Amino acid sequence: MNQSLTDTVLKLTNVSAYYGFTKAIESVSFELKKGQVVGLIGANGAGKTTSLKVLLGMLKPATGTISILGMSRCSSRLFKRIGFAPEDATPPEYLTAREYLVFLSKFRKGENINSVQQIEEFLTWFELDPDKLVRKYSKGMRRRLILAQAFLGKPDLIVLDEPLNGLDPMMILKLRDRLKLYQKQGTTILYSSHILTELEQTCSDVVIMHRGSVIHQDSVENLVKQFGSVEKAFSAKIGAA
Ligand code: ATP
Repeated sequence: MNQSLTDTVLKLTNVSAYYGFTKAIESVSFELKKGQVVGLIGANGAGKTTSLKVLLGMLKPATGTISILGMSRCSSRLFKRIGFAPEDATPPEYLTAREYLVFLSKFRKGENINSVQQIEEFLTWFELDPDKLVRKYSKGMRRRLILAQAFLGKPDLIVLDEPLNGLDPMMILKLRDRLKLYQKQGTTILYSSHILTELEQTCSDVVIMHRGSVIHQDSVENLVKQFGSVEKAFSAKIGAA
């Protein structure tokens, strides 16, 4: 890992969470430092989305502590500094893409950001028809719009849950470049995905979850050196768990 990365942006320590009486995650601990792009990986039901919900304050942890951008919980004030693209979100059908981004930009306006200019840039970059109603958008176009809003206002932390679902191959490549650019500018990014080859291209580090717990966190560089690829590292770690 880059030695200059010292600032902790996000830290979960021994976090457990339930849905009713069902334990979804147990004693989850991981840390993200400024400028890291961290991939959260694990089989279906491993606890990735639950971990994201807990750290964003959408699900109350039963035990453990959270530190996010220097705060002990994710307040609405903090949300101005966080971009989040949920796995299953869809923008309101009665808005156009531009209207949706203009609406959200009022809540997440970063310092020195010209939101009008940024929205137009995002509409072009994500190849979205600005004046088309969301209800006339395809699934992939809706996904692009959900991703676009996560980048609004130059957030300090961007959390993406399965961002690649529904994206075409060209947009996956473009997103890879965008994440690298944001990383260079010091943005911290956490994203969950099952596409391990893409994570290997994009992430500095990965956190491996299995049956509700974190079983490994390491840099992509180390994992590739040791196992040959993130895919092989994942199989080995899951096999040994
Ligand atoms: P996937 O890759 O399939 O999206 P995931 O790693 O994101 O999975 P979670 O959605 O966090 O996994 O699920 C963790 C555990 O919590 C699973 O056992 C799941 O069945 C359970 N779970 C998730 N959501 C709920 C819910 N709303 N009510 C009850 N149990 C839930």
